[in-house]
Amino acid sequence: MTVLDNTTRFLFADSAVRGELTQLDRSVSEVLSKHHYPAAIQPLLGEFMAAAAMLSDTIKFEGTLSLQVRGSGQVRSLMAECRDNRALRALAQYNDDFDDRGPILGEGQMAITIEPKQGHRYQGVVEINDSDLGLAQVLEGYFQRSEQIRTRIWLFADQHKAGGLMLQAMPQSASESSLTGGDDEDDDSWSRLVILASTLKPEEIFGLEAETVLHRLFHEEPVRLYPPRPLEFECTCSADRSGNAIITLGAPEALALIEELGHIDIDCQFCHERYIFGADDVQRLFSPSADDTLN
Ligand SMILES: [Zn+2]
Repeated sequence: MTVLDNTTRFLFADSAVRGELTQLDRSVSEVLSKHHYPAAIQPLLGEFMAAAAMLSDTIKFEGTLSLQVRGSGQVRSLMAECRDNRALRALAQYNDDFDDRGPILGEGQMAITIEPKQGHRYQGVVEINDSDLGLAQVLEGYFQRSEQIRTRIWLFADQHKAGGLMLQAMPQSASESSLTGGDDEDDDSWSRLVILASTLKPEEIFGLEAETVLHRLFHEEPVRLYPPRPLEFECTCSADRSGNAIITLGAPEALALIEELGHIDIDCQFCHERYIFGADDVQRLFSPSADDTLN
């Protein structure tokens, strides 16, 4: 049985807890096929992709959610983004003399950036002081401190697949809280669900349909599933965006490059697409009539 790339939102009917189950297969293979990443980096990219997809679906918005970490370790930067709850891409930049005995991410910062198509950009920054903390724990800490939302996250990844499970307590009004028996009962059901979720195994999240995974974990808890949302690897690069990068260089610099090399090549690091701009193309970029063809 093939589990296609998707993310499934769910709710517990008897508890004020919601969840998200993300399963990635082909999108992870595609990202990893673009570079010869060291083995130690491959699962990290998968975890970041699963987390980006999971958080994006939780927020449910039009736009791009990205997770980016910059640290002092062997990996200089690593980022994954999910656009419109659907399109995933990821990239890691690491030391030329990569040594997996050293700390992989080290100490640094992780940024969670949300860029909606409409409205304001949001960025939350988390310090990573303990290089032993995994991405799941870093994100849990972020939700706890910044959002005051009780959250648990489990991430899984290998050289081919990635997956994630998240449980999140939903804020309740005082009247709802008294109807369900109050805080103590909420605490009990939260603890019970966390214990059950902790038994999730990689082979389950990698190999079984979402409905089966959730049934195995929580078979005595009524769970309401939403339709799974498909995910795929997709890059946002384009000739127009590459042209804009040349415009950002400025005319003197760009024309000097043309003089020297005859053309300017823009390589997309995410997907390896190459955009080649000859002398005429570059002239056109800097001529006023080009304005309407850009953006
Ligand atoms: Zn690209």
